[in-house]
Amino acid sequence: MGTDIHLYWKEQSQDEQNKQITGWDIRCGDVGYLRASIGMHQENEVLRRIFGDDVWDGKPENPKCPKCKGDGMSVAFRKWDKKWHKEHPHGGTLDYPPEFAMLGTKEKPYEPNPKRICKDCKGNGTEDGIMGVRVKFDEDKLKELSVLVRIYVGHAVIGTPMHSLESPNAKRATTMMDMLTRSLTGVGADEIVQGEVSDGEIFFKISWANSLIDFFLLGKEMEDKLREPRVYISW
Ligand SMILES: [Zn+2]
Repeated sequence: MGTDIHLYWKEQSQDEQNKQITGWDIRCGDVGYLRASIGMHQENEVLRRIFGDDVWDGKPENPKCPKCKGDGMSVAFRKWDKKWHKEHPHGGTLDYPPEFAMLGTKEKPYEPNPKRICKDCKGNGTEDGIMGVRVKFDEDKLKELSVLVRIYVGHAVIGTPMHSLESPNAKRATTMMDMLTRSLTGVGADEIVQGEVSDGEIFFKISWANSLIDFFLLGKEMEDKLREPRVYISW
């Protein structure tokens, strides 16, 4: 459960795509994969803000593959599928003939059978075989990211305890902290639960922010190389 976001682009190799299968690692923005589990509220909020509604809705959809008309099936498999459904109007257990059998093994249980898949779109149903919604990774987008990262990290930082600060500058620091927390959260520093963000958590948050930045830098790199990067969100 959670949000998994992939960056796809023109001429992306299978190897580059495979690198994005990480077992839900949150630090893989550099290969074009972002992750926020369902409990990561702040992180999901950041993702919600940085990617527009069109990306979340998966709209506009890419033009459909003309060969399979978007269903991703090979001609032979569709023919068999159609026939099966005609013969089983009330459903039932799909009894695949050997050529369409599941290829799964214990190690790779979901290995797809290539004979079932439309070759033109590699089974994903889009005209150019690239999933996701086009996002422009330009200077404006990076600027937007920079602002969001500041807010995100700012929220994380003000969760750390400040009461041990003993110095002539303590009062000034406290006033500054108070101003900062008020601008970020609407309440003063003394109202923030002290130590809400532990050391481990701040490391985690910086790691996550770093991964997000890497994702955008990769997007920018692909933008500059005219690979027309797209963002695909799977749920
Ligand atoms: Zn197709």
